[in-house]
Amino acid sequence: MKKDNDENNVTVKNTVPLIKDLFHIHKKVGEGTFSSVFLATLKLSDGSKKFALKYLVPTRHPEKIERELQCMQQIGGKDYVVGLELCLRSFETVVFVMPYMRHNKFAEYVQDMTVQETKDYMIALLTALRRVHKFNIIHRDVKPSNFLYDRHNKRYLLVDFGLAQEYVIEKKSNNLKLLNSEAQVTKRKRSDENSLNVSFNIRKKSTEEKCYCFGKAKVCSLCMSRSEQTAPRAGTPGFRAPEVLLKHPSQTPAIDIWASGVMMLCILSGTQPFFHSPDDCTALAEITTIFGSNKMQQCARKLGKKIIFNEDIPGVDVVSLCQKLQKRNKGLLDSNDHNTCEKVSLGAQFPKEAYHFVLGLLDLDYKTRLTADQALNHPFLKL
Ligand code: ADP
Ligand code: MG
Repeated sequence: MKKDNDENNVTVKNTVPLIKDLFHIHKKVGEGTFSSVFLATLKLSDGSKKFALKYLVPTRHPEKIERELQCMQQIGGKDYVVGLELCLRSFETVVFVMPYMRHNKFAEYVQDMTVQETKDYMIALLTALRRVHKFNIIHRDVKPSNFLYDRHNKRYLLVDFGLAQEYVIEKKSNNLKLLNSEAQVTKRKRSDENSLNVSFNIRKKSTEEKCYCFGKAKVCSLCMSRSEQTAPRAGTPGFRAPEVLLKHPSQTPAIDIWASGVMMLCILSGTQPFFHSPDDCTALAEITTIFGSNKMQQCARKLGKKIIFNEDIPGVDVVSLCQKLQKRNKGLLDSNDHNTCEKVSLGAQFPKEAYHFVLGLLDLDYKTRLTADQALNHPFLKL
């Protein structure tokens, strides 16, 4: 297996001959769905300046490559946003050359970040997002592996514009609308729904009065004849905002803020991943466990959707939940204390403003969710 990987790496590295002429490639430092990233130094240099070479998979759509390139060129190099040094192409292979930043794994620091360290981390992340959003760009894949953190040198870098989208304000409806959105057909299999312990019935609200099957197991002929709804749903499971999970067609920079809220929740609870979200319905169920079914129904209603729960779910106190998870993860929790969320007695590490802050980032309503600028002015970060 290791041999196969090594052979693949050699093949990837040799696809752009100019790279071999210019760089020493040292090792692979990252691999995602759409790329392999290598650490490199310039041959004609003392080797002190390090570069990250991102080889895009040859099947990547040219429009997406162009957008990623433009984002790095126009937005990058400032406010903790990765910049671009060079872009090379040979036949179907495109390589982005970026400054390299060494970084720690999220799992290494999420459990023991101090309050001050958390503030600095969130300030850097939100400063990067504020810059990205100023350019009318939604990053769409905010998560720890795309926000690099060098703990020792206190350096931060937002990377990976592979899923970024431009958005414009649609004046007529006063809604924000995505340009070039990756409209994706949202076919949900019944088996997905049945696998939930909380069962959902999500339906575009306007169909409710006219059809005969709403809330029933069988789909009526009127609904069968309706066109399928489309909505962009790029992103990573566990970090998708409710409006993405509920297939709302107009999505805004608020989806990046939600994802930053999930990262803050991971830190407050010392838990990662916080949401497992194997599919969108389970993701909604997990969010409902935190906020309760009433708030989730309200959120859906505002998006013109309706969710039916087979039981009333009360929601939990986020402060108690985070404190309890922190203790469980640090091995401080009593073994028979695992399934409850009542207040725990040990003093909170984070001030109450930290929880107010995370709830502002995780506002279910994208219209009232904090913007990056508002979040940066929140008392938790200002104190
Ligand atoms: P993908 O689109 O495949 O997810 P990314 O741009 O997120 O690609 O890069 C994948 C990984 O490579 C990152 O999670 C990170 O570990 C590493 N990486 C990316 N850019 C850099 C960089 N500039 N410096 C250091 N490591 C990087
Ligand atoms: Mg990535």
